[in-house]
Amino acid sequence: MSEPPDTPEPADTPERPDTATAEDFSQLGLRPELVAALAQLGYEEPTPIQREAIPLLLAGRDLMGQAATGTGKTAAFALPILQRLPDTHRGTAPRVLVLVPTRELAMQVSEAVHRYGRGMAARVLPIYGGQPIFRQLRALGSGVDVVVGTPGRVLDHLNRGSLTLDQLQTVVLDEADEMLDMGFAEDLEAIMAATPVQRQTLLFSATIPARVEKLARRYLRDPVSVQIGRGPATASGAPLVRQTAYVVSRAHKPATLGRILDVESPTAAIVFCRTRDEVDRLTETLNGRGYRAEALHGGMNQDQRDRVMGRLRSGTAELLVATDVAARGLDIDQLTHVINYDVPTDPESYVHRIGRVGRAGRSGVAITLAEPREHRMLKAIERATKQRMHLATVPTVADLRARRLESTRAAIHENLLAGDLDGFRVVVESLAAEFDVLEVALAAVQLAHETLGGPAEEEADIPQAAEPTGAGGRTFTEPTARLFVGAGRSAGIRPQDLVGAIAGESRLTGRDIGSIEISDKFSLVEIPDSAVDEVIQALRGTTIKGRKAVIRRDRTPAKRARARS
Ligand code: AMP
Repeated sequence: MSEPPDTPEPADTPERPDTATAEDFSQLGLRPELVAALAQLGYEEPTPIQREAIPLLLAGRDLMGQAATGTGKTAAFALPILQRLPDTHRGTAPRVLVLVPTRELAMQVSEAVHRYGRGMAARVLPIYGGQPIFRQLRALGSGVDVVVGTPGRVLDHLNRGSLTLDQLQTVVLDEADEMLDMGFAEDLEAIMAATPVQRQTLLFSATIPARVEKLARRYLRDPVSVQIGRGPATASGAPLVRQTAYVVSRAHKPATLGRILDVESPTAAIVFCRTRDEVDRLTETLNGRGYRAEALHGGMNQDQRDRVMGRLRSGTAELLVATDVAARGLDIDQLTHVINYDVPTDPESYVHRIGRVGRAGRSGVAITLAEPREHRMLKAIERATKQRMHLATVPTVADLRARRLESTRAAIHENLLAGDLDGFRVVVESLAAEFDVLEVALAAVQLAHETLGGPAEEEADIPQAAEPTGAGGRTFTEPTARLFVGAGRSAGIRPQDLVGAIAGESRLTGRDIGSIEISDKFSLVEIPDSAVDEVIQALRGTTIKGRKAVIRRDRTPAKRARARS
């Protein structure tokens, strides 16, 4: 692959990278308050979908975006909707409604909008089930600019008269494919009917099956289309690199990275993060765990960058933790591993990152840590690179021990071959008078092992986060229970209605829900035992397919429950 030349920057412009950030985002037409918020969050440059979508959305266009989680799509719509809020006299009724499939996403998106809109005093409210409705009523009553909600709860508020949508400028349908999969089609229809005809409508979806297209035809006007994650096939340019991905939850990422580094023992590795803050935090964590890591990001001046590169080239540092911007144009001979601490925001950037190893016929390794929701990006990357990514399981404590014992064995083997051990004979001989020689050797190996063992590890195994498989595809690892729902086939209940209601109103997602049985008068849904009370509580205040239903824990043994239906 061809690399941009490493152009040294003049040493007298230490603040250049900060200015570059500001320019990059403001070049898209964003106002200074938003640009400042992004710089504070450590975003160094727009992701591809942000670059494409933001100017179009600022101009008021409708948009159909094919983009999965991990592409930066939330900021792509959140920044323009914030910018388009009136400066003053915003009134009480919301200007923007963002509809999302799950409670989890409602919280995430509303936090993101809140963070970006801090400098503009934007009032953001997530509304989802499982949260006391009076709190939402109070907040709605005192005035909100942006509502982020699940369709079920939004409809509830509409029916109660606590939410008015006639002042809306923009409606965002986020993860439209999932909303339809969860049976929210009718709810969406009812909600859209309550919005003004003159509105801007944005639809984001990771996949565009026919029913999403139909939705778009129905609600978008002359939309522009933006597709991310279908980068040009780069098979010929993709280097020969062993590519592995680990699916882990965010909380387990630092420990997983540690395990991987211990098992892989790279000579030199570059670890890519999305933001400056993450670079700083991770560098600190890694150094705290005994690795020699150096940070490299756009907030550093040329002198600092040169010093970091010097330490990596001389072997004083073994890990470089960097943002894409900072690492652009770097050419490091010693690199054996590229690690994506976060999934890159588009396949091209992935190809660019891994192009740093495996050059000139040398073998290289690319490792990607993905969160369960980001599995679609992994697929997009596979398509773009035309190479399979091996999905690996996080090394267990046992793997790690085996690996460490192996390296102790190798070190001792090397020592034996090197000879010149006579100086220690007296120690062995004196101990041999008292112990068996094998026991003496064991004790010596233990000492050597402890000295060579590297950083102390936590002794717990890291749970492997499952890839989402869609509703019903879950294999449970924890005790499950059945929920009795007093509505069934005769009320028109379908599995997706139950999944939609549960995922929309509780912290469970579609993949937490197991088998679903629907009989004439009632339905049984399998969910994790630990979530039963919460789900019952959450569903109590809502309707399923427009009707209230009895919800309780089902205590009949499975066989009888089936016989009953
Ligand atoms: P999303 O695809 O919207 O779920 O975003 C994925 C992650 O990328 C979130 O953690 C964002 O905070 C982060 N992110 C979004 N845009 C940028 C950017 N321009 N630079 C760095 N990180 C970003």
